[in-house]
Amino acid sequence: MVNFLIFGPPGSGKGTQSVRLAEKFNLTHLSTGDMLRAEIAAGTSLGKRMSSIMSKGELVPDEVVIELIASKIDKTKNTAGFLFDGFPRTVEQTVSLENMLEKRNMKIDSMLVLEVDHDELVKRLLARAELSGRPDDKDPAVIESRIDVYKSKTEPIIDYCRKKGLYRPVNGVGAIEDIFERLSEQIRIII
Ligand code: ADP
Repeated sequence: MVNFLIFGPPGSGKGTQSVRLAEKFNLTHLSTGDMLRAEIAAGTSLGKRMSSIMSKGELVPDEVVIELIASKIDKTKNTAGFLFDGFPRTVEQTVSLENMLEKRNMKIDSMLVLEVDHDELVKRLLARAELSGRPDDKDPAVIESRIDVYKSKTEPIIDYCRKKGLYRPVNGVGAIEDIFERLSEQIRIII
Protein backbone atom coordinates (compact mmCIF):
# COMPACT_ATOMS: atom_id res chain seq x y z
CA MET A 1 0.00 0.00 0.00
CA VAL A 2 1.33 3.44 -1.00
CA ASN A 3 -0.31 6.62 0.22
CA PHE A 4 0.03 10.07 -1.32
CA LEU A 5 -0.95 13.56 -0.31
CA ILE A 6 -1.87 15.74 -3.26
CA PHE A 7 -1.24 19.28 -2.24
CA GLY A 8 -1.57 22.83 -3.48
CA PRO A 9 -3.64 25.99 -3.06
CA PRO A 10 -7.35 26.18 -3.96
CA GLY A 11 -7.64 26.07 -7.73
CA SER A 12 -4.30 24.31 -8.24
CA GLY A 13 -6.01 21.34 -9.91
CA LYS A 14 -5.87 18.74 -7.14
CA GLY A 15 -9.39 17.43 -7.76
CA THR A 16 -9.02 17.23 -11.55
CA GLN A 17 -5.70 15.42 -11.36
CA SER A 18 -6.66 13.17 -8.43
CA VAL A 19 -9.56 11.57 -10.27
CA ARG A 20 -7.28 10.66 -13.18
CA LEU A 21 -4.36 9.53 -11.04
CA ALA A 22 -6.59 7.37 -8.86
CA GLU A 23 -7.89 5.58 -11.93
CA LYS A 24 -4.47 5.11 -13.50
CA PHE A 25 -2.70 3.81 -10.39
CA ASN A 26 -5.62 2.05 -8.72
CA LEU A 27 -5.60 4.43 -5.78
CA THR A 28 -8.60 5.41 -3.68
CA HIS A 29 -9.25 9.15 -3.97
CA LEU A 30 -10.35 10.72 -0.67
CA SER A 31 -11.40 14.38 -0.93
CA THR A 32 -12.65 15.99 2.26
CA GLY A 33 -14.15 18.85 0.20
CA ASP A 34 -16.21 16.34 -1.82
CA MET A 35 -17.23 14.47 1.35
CA LEU A 36 -18.38 17.69 3.02
CA ARG A 37 -20.29 18.82 -0.09
CA ALA A 38 -21.97 15.39 -0.17
CA GLU A 39 -23.08 15.92 3.45
CA ILE A 40 -24.53 19.31 2.51
CA ALA A 41 -26.29 17.90 -0.57
CA ALA A 42 -27.78 15.07 1.52
CA GLY A 43 -29.06 17.62 4.03
CA THR A 44 -27.45 15.89 7.05
CA SER A 45 -27.12 17.77 10.32
CA LEU A 46 -23.34 17.74 9.91
CA GLY A 47 -23.74 19.24 6.42
CA LYS A 48 -26.01 21.95 7.77
CA ARG A 49 -23.51 22.88 10.46
CA MET A 50 -20.56 22.96 8.02
CA SER A 51 -22.11 24.85 5.12
CA SER A 52 -21.80 28.36 6.55
CA ILE A 53 -18.16 27.78 7.51
CA MET A 54 -17.38 26.53 4.02
CA SER A 55 -19.19 29.35 2.25
CA LYS A 56 -16.99 31.82 4.14
CA GLY A 57 -13.85 29.99 2.99
CA GLU A 58 -12.85 29.02 6.54
CA LEU A 59 -11.74 25.58 7.69
CA VAL A 60 -14.21 23.20 9.32
CA PRO A 61 -13.08 21.77 12.70
CA ASP A 62 -10.24 19.23 12.52
CA GLU A 63 -12.22 16.48 14.27
CA VAL A 64 -14.95 16.61 11.60
CA VAL A 65 -12.62 15.84 8.70
CA ILE A 66 -10.56 13.37 10.72
CA GLU A 67 -13.75 11.37 11.48
CA LEU A 68 -14.82 11.43 7.83
CA ILE A 69 -11.41 10.23 6.64
CA ALA A 70 -11.04 7.47 9.27
CA SER A 71 -14.42 6.02 8.46
CA LYS A 72 -13.68 5.99 4.69
CA ILE A 73 -10.31 4.31 5.24
CA ASP A 74 -11.94 1.60 7.33
CA LYS A 75 -14.65 0.98 4.73
CA THR A 76 -12.21 0.68 1.82
CA LYS A 77 -11.01 -2.81 0.95
CA ASN A 78 -8.56 -3.96 -1.73
CA THR A 79 -6.88 -0.75 -2.69
CA ALA A 80 -3.32 -0.07 -3.88
CA GLY A 81 -3.31 2.96 -1.59
CA PHE A 82 -4.95 6.30 -0.87
CA LEU A 83 -4.68 9.69 -2.51
CA PHE A 84 -5.56 12.34 0.07
CA ASP A 85 -6.91 15.51 -1.58
CA GLY A 86 -7.68 18.63 0.46
CA PHE A 87 -6.66 16.82 3.63
CA PRO A 88 -4.63 17.40 5.76
CA ARG A 89 -5.07 21.17 5.82
CA THR A 90 -3.32 21.98 9.10
CA VAL A 91 -0.20 20.58 10.78
CA GLU A 92 -2.54 19.23 13.51
CA GLN A 93 -4.53 17.30 10.89
CA THR A 94 -1.25 15.96 9.51
CA VAL A 95 -0.21 14.60 12.89
CA SER A 96 -3.68 13.06 13.35
CA LEU A 97 -3.45 11.45 9.92
CA GLU A 98 -0.03 10.01 10.71
CA ASN A 99 -1.33 8.54 13.97
CA MET A 100 -4.42 7.16 12.28
CA LEU A 101 -2.30 5.54 9.55
CA GLU A 102 0.24 4.17 12.01
CA LYS A 103 -2.51 2.35 13.93
CA ARG A 104 -3.43 0.62 10.67
CA ASN A 105 0.18 -0.17 9.72
CA MET A 106 0.20 2.48 7.01
CA LYS A 107 2.10 5.74 6.44
CA ILE A 108 2.29 8.80 4.17
CA ASP A 109 4.71 7.78 1.41
CA SER A 110 4.92 11.02 -0.55
CA MET A 111 3.56 14.53 -0.90
CA LEU A 112 2.93 15.82 -4.43
CA VAL A 113 2.68 19.62 -4.46
CA LEU A 114 1.09 21.44 -7.39
CA GLU A 115 2.72 24.84 -7.81
CA VAL A 116 0.53 27.54 -9.39
CA ASP A 117 0.92 31.34 -9.15
CA HIS A 118 -1.70 33.53 -7.44
CA ASP A 119 -3.20 35.25 -10.51
CA GLU A 120 -3.68 31.95 -12.30
CA LEU A 121 -5.48 30.51 -9.21
CA VAL A 122 -7.96 33.38 -9.04
CA LYS A 123 -8.61 33.14 -12.79
CA ARG A 124 -9.29 29.41 -12.59
CA LEU A 125 -11.57 29.62 -9.55
CA LEU A 126 -13.71 32.38 -11.05
CA ALA A 127 -14.00 30.36 -14.28
CA ARG A 128 -14.90 27.23 -12.27
CA ALA A 129 -17.69 29.11 -10.47
CA GLU A 130 -19.57 29.35 -13.75
CA LEU A 131 -19.55 25.57 -14.14
CA SER A 132 -19.54 24.17 -10.60
CA GLY A 133 -22.05 26.51 -9.00
CA ARG A 134 -19.89 26.32 -5.84
CA PRO A 135 -20.77 29.30 -3.64
CA ASP A 136 -17.16 29.51 -2.37
CA ASP A 137 -15.90 30.07 -5.95
CA LYS A 138 -18.25 32.92 -6.85
CA ASP A 139 -17.05 35.67 -4.53
CA PRO A 140 -13.54 37.10 -5.11
CA ALA A 141 -13.30 37.99 -1.39
CA VAL A 142 -13.97 34.36 -0.40
CA ILE A 143 -11.39 33.17 -2.93
CA GLU A 144 -8.79 35.50 -1.40
CA SER A 145 -9.67 34.31 2.07
CA ARG A 146 -9.27 30.64 1.03
CA ILE A 147 -5.86 31.44 -0.47
CA ASP A 148 -4.91 33.27 2.77
CA VAL A 149 -6.05 30.31 4.89
CA TYR A 150 -3.96 28.05 2.66
CA LYS A 151 -0.87 30.22 3.17
CA SER A 152 -1.22 30.61 6.92
CA LYS A 153 -2.57 27.21 8.01
CA THR A 154 -1.93 24.70 5.23
CA GLU A 155 1.40 25.67 3.67
CA PRO A 156 3.36 24.97 6.90
CA ILE A 157 2.65 21.26 6.23
CA ILE A 158 5.09 21.50 3.30
CA ASP A 159 8.00 22.22 5.65
CA TYR A 160 6.83 19.51 8.03
CA CYS A 161 6.80 16.95 5.20
CA ARG A 162 9.99 18.26 3.59
CA LYS A 163 11.88 17.47 6.80
CA LYS A 164 10.64 13.89 6.47
CA GLY A 165 11.86 13.70 2.86
CA LEU A 166 8.34 13.41 1.43
CA TYR A 167 8.16 16.67 -0.56
CA ARG A 168 7.86 16.46 -4.38
CA PRO A 169 7.00 19.72 -6.14
CA VAL A 170 5.36 19.63 -9.57
CA ASN A 171 4.74 22.52 -11.96
CA GLY A 172 0.95 22.92 -11.96
CA VAL A 173 0.73 25.35 -14.90
CA GLY A 174 0.12 24.12 -18.44
CA ALA A 175 -2.14 21.60 -20.15
CA ILE A 176 -4.05 19.19 -17.88
CA GLU A 177 -2.52 16.27 -19.77
CA ASP A 178 1.06 17.56 -19.31
CA ILE A 179 0.56 18.15 -15.58
CA PHE A 180 -0.90 14.65 -15.32
CA GLU A 181 2.29 13.26 -16.92
CA ARG A 182 4.49 15.21 -14.47
CA LEU A 183 2.54 13.84 -11.51
CA SER A 184 2.52 10.30 -12.92
CA GLU A 185 6.31 10.43 -13.26
CA GLN A 186 6.64 11.28 -9.56
CA ILE A 187 4.24 8.51 -8.55
CA ARG A 188 6.15 5.94 -10.60
CA ILE A 189 9.31 6.82 -8.65
CA ILE A 190 7.54 5.91 -5.39
CA ILE A 191 5.56 2.79 -6.32
P1 ADP B 1 -10.53 23.94 -2.57
O1 ADP B 1 -9.32 23.08 -2.57
O2 ADP B 1 -10.96 24.31 -3.95
O3 ADP B 1 -10.42 25.12 -1.65
P2 ADP B 1 -12.13 21.85 -1.26
O4 ADP B 1 -13.17 21.23 -2.10
O5 ADP B 1 -10.93 21.02 -0.93
O6 ADP B 1 -11.77 23.19 -2.00
O7 ADP B 1 -12.76 22.36 0.13
C1 ADP B 1 -13.83 23.26 0.19
C2 ADP B 1 -14.04 23.75 1.62
O8 ADP B 1 -14.32 22.63 2.49
C3 ADP B 1 -12.84 24.44 2.27
O9 ADP B 1 -12.75 25.81 1.93
C4 ADP B 1 -13.13 24.19 3.77
O10 ADP B 1 -14.12 25.07 4.26
C5 ADP B 1 -13.72 22.79 3.79
N1 ADP B 1 -12.69 21.74 3.97
C6 ADP B 1 -12.34 20.79 3.06
N2 ADP B 1 -11.38 19.98 3.54
C7 ADP B 1 -11.08 20.44 4.80
C8 ADP B 1 -10.15 20.05 5.81
N3 ADP B 1 -9.30 19.02 5.65
N4 ADP B 1 -10.14 20.75 6.98
C9 ADP B 1 -10.95 21.78 7.17
N5 ADP B 1 -11.84 22.23 6.25
C10 ADP B 1 -11.92 21.57 5.07
